[in-house]
Amino acid sequence: MNEPKRGRGQFDGWSKSSLKSLLEGCSWQWALQRLGGLEGGSSPHSAAGTGLHAAIEWHEQCRIDGKDTPDKASLIWAAHEEGLADGANIPPNLEAFHGGADLAGQWAAELADTWWESDIRQTLLEYTPLAVEPHYEVSVFRDRPNLRGYLDWVGRDADGVATVVDYKSASNVKRWSDANYHLVEAAVYLYLVSTDEQFEDEPVRMEWHVIARDGETTILRGPTMNPDLSYFLFQRLDEAQAIMDAGSYTQNTSWGLCSPRWCNFYHGCQTSGILGPDHISFDSPAPASLPAGRGAGEVERVHPPDAAPSPAKPNV
Ligand code: SF4
Repeated sequence: MNEPKRGRGQFDGWSKSSLKSLLEGCSWQWALQRLGGLEGGSSPHSAAGTGLHAAIEWHEQCRIDGKDTPDKASLIWAAHEEGLADGANIPPNLEAFHGGADLAGQWAAELADTWWESDIRQTLLEYTPLAVEPHYEVSVFRDRPNLRGYLDWVGRDADGVATVVDYKSASNVKRWSDANYHLVEAAVYLYLVSTDEQFEDEPVRMEWHVIARDGETTILRGPTMNPDLSYFLFQRLDEAQAIMDAGSYTQNTSWGLCSPRWCNFYHGCQTSGILGPDHISFDSPAPASLPAGRGAGEVERVHPPDAAPSPAKPNV
């Protein structure tokens, strides 16, 4: 079921993170990464999350395979090692603000410790895992890129209801008190899973398991797949495709993550301008210029200049 993950600069389908960053974050940053192939870089926060995910994935794969689950010390060590390894991707400018790989490994270990001791691990143990990190890819509109994604966990809850669980690492649990703020994510994941024949004609619901660095945890229960959520997803896909077809990527300086602390392109985009629209055009065949070391031709055009947005034709 798993397939190789695509890299940056290789846009060939819509994913949860692609839709969220294009529609809810900064579409200029999205284009720099997904079309220009520039590295957005990591942070200790995301690398620690990678470590935690890897540790829980190992735990749950053991349950699927009928093997003994790792003990607490092994699980924490695994999280630390994965966080450390992913921390190697933290660029120096972001490391200067936040810290580097060592901090990522430390945070990953602490998150795994919190998860191990939490009620949410006990809840997960009452559930039945069917797949960890399954990859789904489906055609939603016949003439557009596919919708795809890797899901953290798919299985059945204690009542046997088909459930998607997504693990979240966070500084605190405040952002995770209202599922309405996370509908794009829920819509993408539930749509993908509902195309799986093993869940045909049964409700599939969404749940987030949040582990915070301040030691708190919470489970946020999300929606069950329904026609309104499908329609919401089609609308978001339409909006994203319209931006892409028009090449109308814009700098979103009012976004909370538009800061030298969080955006690896901040200097080029906001200070020198070398990564700004005066130097790069994503709606012309070749951008005016790119940073040293990259040729103009490396910015990939995904649609021809005269491609018009297509009418919505969902395959459902
Ligand atoms: S610096 Fe701000 S406007 Fe520029 S790409 Fe980053 S988030 Fe977007």
